[in-house]
Amino acid sequence: MITISIDEKACVSCSLCVDICPTKVFSFNSVKDLPEVALPKECFGCLSCSEICPSDAIQHTGAALSSCFHHDTYCTNIVSKLAVSEPASFEDIASATGLDEAMRDISVRLLSVGTVLKDVVGAGLPSVGLMAGRSLATQLPRYRPPKNLEEAFELAIKEFAPAWGLEFKQDSDNLKVCVKECFVRGLCKQENISLGGELCVLFFNYLSGYLGKMSKTQLKLVTAERSAESCSYEVKIMHR
Ligand code: SF4
Ligand code: SF4
Repeated sequence: MITISIDEKACVSCSLCVDICPTKVFSFNSVKDLPEVALPKECFGCLSCSEICPSDAIQHTGAALSSCFHHDTYCTNIVSKLAVSEPASFEDIASATGLDEAMRDISVRLLSVGTVLKDVVGAGLPSVGLMAGRSLATQLPRYRPPKNLEEAFELAIKEFAPAWGLEFKQDSDNLKVCVKECFVRGLCKQENISLGGELCVLFFNYLSGYLGKMSKTQLKLVTAERSAESCSYEVKIMHR
């Protein structure tokens, strides 16, 4: 059996571990202001919690950890390709027709990946998005990595266009992410899919993993508002 320990002194009470665990192993004790291991037998060793913990406060011992879907580079690599138009050549992208074709190609991939992941990993979907975003951050070639979150925002705005039109407003550790243009939103409309489903979960965590990896932070979702015109996310920044 896997044993989970939490370093209470290191814990910053962000509750990210509670939110991300696919099998609801943790509960949050609001009196102690700390997470607790409520259902230890449910842990299958995916390590989502220790990966998202901003203070490295969670340790697992006692069993071989699972080779989980989101540790599978093949799986995360597929999702990480979603922001780029890989099948089209640079010349194709330069023409409007080529861009449309590339977007249609990504639409098919995204819908298939979203449907398959929902069936296969269920509640583990945020971890897939998160790991894919981190994978993207390390795969894209760049001369100089961003030095801070502000530079990561600037880069994200460029690198995620034209699939996503992003706007970031930061006030201390509070961040508002506005998604003015959204490829996923257009796709949901086209396919008559409700907003807030697996594609939106994948997208938010994808962006969160990407920004977190680039800026050495973790982003905790506080609220999400989605509409046919624009979506916005209130986020808390946790420094690693
Ligand atoms: S390793 Fe995975 S299943 Fe186990 S507590 Fe952490 S998030 Fe939950
Ligand atoms: S993710 Fe880490 S810091 Fe946040 S509540 Fe869980 S153990 Fe504490």
